[in-house]
Amino acid sequence: MNFTDFDFTNEVLDGLSSMGFEKCTPVQEFAIPVIMEGKDLIACAQTGTGKTAAYLLPILNNISREGHTGMHTLIIAPTRELVLQIDQQIEGFSYFTGASSLAVYGGGVGAAFDQQKSALVQGADIIVATPGRLLSHINMKYSDFSTIQTLILDEADRMLDMGFFDDIMRIIGELPVERQTLLFSATMPPKIRQMAGMILRNPEQINIAISKPAENIIQAAYMVYEGQKVQLLKELLKGKTDYKSVLIFTSRKANVNGLVRELRRMGFSADGMLSDLEQKEREEVMLRFKNRETQILVATDIVSRGIDIDNIDLVMNYDVPRDPEDYVHRIGRTARASASGVAITLISDNDMHDFRKIEELIERDIMKIPLPAGMGDGPTYNPAARRKMAPRSTSGGGRGGERRAPAKKDFRHRDRGNHQGHRKQGE
Ligand code: AMP
Repeated sequence: MNFTDFDFTNEVLDGLSSMGFEKCTPVQEFAIPVIMEGKDLIACAQTGTGKTAAYLLPILNNISREGHTGMHTLIIAPTRELVLQIDQQIEGFSYFTGASSLAVYGGGVGAAFDQQKSALVQGADIIVATPGRLLSHINMKYSDFSTIQTLILDEADRMLDMGFFDDIMRIIGELPVERQTLLFSATMPPKIRQMAGMILRNPEQINIAISKPAENIIQAAYMVYEGQKVQLLKELLKGKTDYKSVLIFTSRKANVNGLVRELRRMGFSADGMLSDLEQKEREEVMLRFKNRETQILVATDIVSRGIDIDNIDLVMNYDVPRDPEDYVHRIGRTARASASGVAITLISDNDMHDFRKIEELIERDIMKIPLPAGMGDGPTYNPAARRKMAPRSTSGGGRGGERRAPAKKDFRHRDRGNHQGHRKQGE
């Protein structure tokens, strides 16, 4: 299906063609007509499926038809990275519609708060906000949300995981009762359904969950002891100085700086991205990576859902994420839209059990490649082996694990189909 099949205004269609978008992705094909009919919607769709455009285009179409009527749409998203990413997409699409948007997120300096305040007072067509910062503004009583027609919750599951339920409900309390509400979530655990029951009215439901990574990602893994990881990393990247964009994920903050130092020593331009950085630094690091000035970005999970960069040559999991969903998110940074990509995971003897959970979630065994010659033997893959209780070393730099506790997620009712498949499968 093409975007020209929808009853979009010329301004929206011009925006689409300037972005080079022609064919709809499945979530767009299903969601856009529902949203254009003004219905509430609960959509199970991950990052990488085109979900942002699925909700932005009908909203921009409404704004383009109705003209500026004050604050029209509020989008709430879990992280500043995602907020910025959504705001950038709005900017791209809305060039011809003239719709204005405002990104509201925490961090930054006091001046940023004041800027957000004055923009909130003046009103923009679309507000994209993290819950905490928006609530700080709401508490100061100068924002008027009475003209809001549409509320969008993006990555609702992550927002609940981050403990934003109460904040979201308080924000919703400020909005008109008569509104359209759209809820997008990568997973549909019972708590999301519960929240949907409280805030949506007769919603249409679509399930385009891809708990499986896209087919065009080549996935492989190495069995490796913690103490061999740095050497393996060097072997894998040796002579690859022509790589333009490589993402290395680690669950441990303490690994980031050590890895960046190693990579720089090898002649790569590398940066680290972790939650400790100031907002301005995070944006600069991101921009350098996006502009291909930095070849390798070493990041913790904080950015796994917030990076919208095409053509990443390689995603490497320096360690196995405990939460299998994070694996899908991490490797989803490569092979975006229709390009292909490579994802490599380093599995230590202590991570085998977690890796098996990933293989179960994505319903396939990932190829284990023997270690390069001269590195000696790694552990044998035996996922039934129990995790050792001793704290794990952090060979990339420093000690002290920072791993998140595994998120309590309910996979029982997950739709494991790919885009086309809507098959329900229990566990
Ligand atoms: P999202 O799932 O919203 O994070 O989108 C993933 C990526 O796919 C973004 O870089 C979008 O710009 C891109 N994208 C979304 N829809 C389309 C489309 N119909 N055609 C081409 N690229 C798209």
